Amino acid sequence: SGDERALRIVVVGHVDHGKSTLIGRLLHDADALPDGRVAQVQQSSDARGVGFEWSFVIDALQAERDQGITIETSRLSFATERRRIEIIDAPGHGEFLRNMVTGAASADAAIAVIDVREGAVAQARRHLFLLSLLGVRKVVVAINKMDTVGWDRAAFDRVANETRDYLAELALKPVAIVPISARGGENVWNGSDAAAWHDSSLRDALDALEPTPAAENRALRLAVQDVYRDGERRIIAGRVESGRVRVGDEIAFLPGGQRARVATIEGWNEPVARIAAAAGQTVALTLDQKLFVARGHLAVAAGAAPDAVRRIRVRAFWLSPKPLLQGAELRLRIATADHRVTVVQIERAIDVETLAPVEADTIVSGQIADLVLESNEPMLVDIAADIAPTGRGVLVDGHDVSGGCLVLDKLTTRARR
Ligand code: GDP
Repeated sequence: SGDERALRIVVVGHVDHGKSTLIGRLLHDADALPDGRVAQVQQSSDARGVGFEWSFVIDALQAERDQGITIETSRLSFATERRRIEIIDAPGHGEFLRNMVTGAASADAAIAVIDVREGAVAQARRHLFLLSLLGVRKVVVAINKMDTVGWDRAAFDRVANETRDYLAELALKPVAIVPISARGGENVWNGSDAAAWHDSSLRDALDALEPTPAAENRALRLAVQDVYRDGERRIIAGRVESGRVRVGDEIAFLPGGQRARVATIEGWNEPVARIAAAAGQTVALTLDQKLFVARGHLAVAAGAAPDAVRRIRVRAFWLSPKPLLQGAELRLRIATADHRVTVVQIERAIDVETLAPVEADTIVSGQIADLVLESNEPMLVDIAADIAPTGRGVLVDGHDVSGGCLVLDKLTTRARR
């Protein structure tokens, strides 16, 4: 089949709603756990005097990662009938939101786990809101712990409706909303008599998901990562963030705007040269003439450069314990570009629970806000809704990632060319 690419998913939800338990269950029931893992977890469950805790499976994997013992993502992957699914973030403690912001950008889909007794509480809403900001459009909602309400259909409907309404305000339509018991493994991988009133299991919902098509049909954006010399040749290594590039195409390198034609294209570790590369691929290019090109430059189709602007409006999610104030000096990293920016205005915060705008002059960790950023030099960015990979960035304060943001608008156009 044409399904060779793994589907990448994140699992989100309020603490204790059952994310780890669900992942442990999925990996077990899909027969994807390393040998001996379940016996090991049984031992430590016994030692702690608790019943078998599926979440310990994930805790153990997480601990290996924290200790730097290699845990390949393949350990957190499993296969359905149709494809391989990779869980790109296990819910690890305080770092989870940060990981979502810096790593979930390339998730194809998410599973939102909600405890049926509690519903879509504030933290769950915040996660769903972030998913919408991160461009993760496919959400499977798993209403968990159905065993605690005796698989009461009315309780499920109540939480399902509330969640569906909230998602609708974010312009997200859930792919499916399924009742499950992660701990009992009911309606997760296998169906369950208790869930007979519902037409699908979580596995059915996951099976129906499709990977996100790469942004091949958008304008070319090739982010330059490095330039190597090979005798007289200069080899430009970069990632095609969107669009396509072919041998013979005339491209321009921004911010300078120098043009050349693509002479050769090679893929990573590929024996044979290619004639084209598309979004999502990392390639090495040579040109038909010598140009000054460096890391952080952006290659675009000649004559089709985006406007370079000094002011942009972004929607930011702030994660730093240090509050954000007007006048703050940060760095904005988008693809391989790195711009010094000043927060010239905090326009509004957004109440994640009600989605209403709120006046604010200080933004604290966990808040979402619209900001105006200004840079001394023209910034090459796109509006996130048009070209996501070059419209989405990370805000850095010193050495720390302090938040993420999406470009909503370009405010001043001072293109130099
Ligand atoms: P996380 O913080 O979202 O990762 O939540 P955990 O997976 O650690 O689960 C929190 C607690 O809820 C644990 O004690 C689990 O055993 C329990 N739990 C998880 N799923 C279920 C379920 O389907 N039914 C019941 N009764 N308890 C569950």
